[in-house]
Amino acid sequence: MSVLVYIEHADGSVKKTSLEAVSYAKALSDKLGAGEVIAVALGSIAQEELAKAGHAGAAKVMHVNDEKLNAGIIQAHAEAVAQVYRKVGAGTLVLAKSSLGDAVAARLAVKLDAALVSNVVELPETGSGYKVKRSIYTGKAFAETSVNKDHKILAVKKNAVDLKTDGAAAAVETVALDINADNFATKIISTDKATGEVLLPEADIVVSGGRGMKGPENWGLIEDLAKELGAATGCSKPVSDIGWRPHHEHVGQTGVKVAPTLYIAVGISGAIQHLAGVNSSKCIVVINKDAEAPFFKAADYGIVGDAFEVLPKLTEAVKAL
Ligand code: FAD
Repeated sequence: MSVLVYIEHADGSVKKTSLEAVSYAKALSDKLGAGEVIAVALGSIAQEELAKAGHAGAAKVMHVNDEKLNAGIIQAHAEAVAQVYRKVGAGTLVLAKSSLGDAVAARLAVKLDAALVSNVVELPETGSGYKVKRSIYTGKAFAETSVNKDHKILAVKKNAVDLKTDGAAAAVETVALDINADNFATKIISTDKATGEVLLPEADIVVSGGRGMKGPENWGLIEDLAKELGAATGCSKPVSDIGWRPHHEHVGQTGVKVAPTLYIAVGISGAIQHLAGVNSSKCIVVINKDAEAPFFKAADYGIVGDAFEVLPKLTEAVKAL
């Protein structure tokens, strides 16, 4: 039975997390001898872009280019993916762990009577039973989940697998499905994109500020660096509580959990509740004037210094690259 991957896209590009899911699916398929990896993409996106899923390991992309799927109605997405899953005779669905992925995966688990394992970090162990390792407790521990169902849905944690890029372009096939959006309770009347900025949960680089930034009037320093790096901006909880920054930028146990390739923390002490939201980052850089700040223990690189001196220099240095 083949492995199907649900790929997400935004602003005309397939998301990197979905390409990671394709790479995971390819490795899984090779391990299980499960045949080719097929991806499914929904809504408007250029087929040349979808063909790039081949570099990550997909042999084919099924493109359901139905306008009704552009509205982002999750029930419609789940229905479309379920139809493609049955059509290709898949046994496993792989997708990226994300807000959309979570919502679609839960519905698919019911529709396909499948076992759903989320936050997967490794290929399953298939010697004695099918066991999947997943990240739990905001990245502090791992659990091994035994899966007994025939159909399986694996939601892969961001940055947990290496992105493969050496495959050939995938063949893209347009598929027409019978999806009636009127059947679904959710109606999206209109959508509005708040800013042109990089979205925090998806960002590959995050520059985050804490109380050490002293006030909202100084956030230009964080934004300048973020702009040069193509990064999203984040903040600690007190910063959003006081109203220096909007709540959707609050990172941590009670806020957004991020897993970027690079997390730069400026004037943040590194309380355990903040670390819970960032400890899946690949590389953490801490800028703090207190050499004893707990965040340095979690840092890959640290700069002991005043943010108001370090940030402008760092931004200039990035500009000069
Ligand atoms: P502070 O602790 O005040 O630290 C400021 C840091 O800035 C210090 O390390 C200081 O040395 C440094 N600094 C000061 N001036 C400068 C300068 N000029 N240059 C460089 N560095 C400077 N917090 C979160 O962030 N996310 C959460 O999700 C979260 N959830 C919580 C849930 C619960 C139930 C509780 C009890 C707390 C939670 N908190 C959370 C709060 C958390 O415990 C900390 O209080 C908070 O993270 C501290 O924020 P901060 O580091 O910005 O501020």
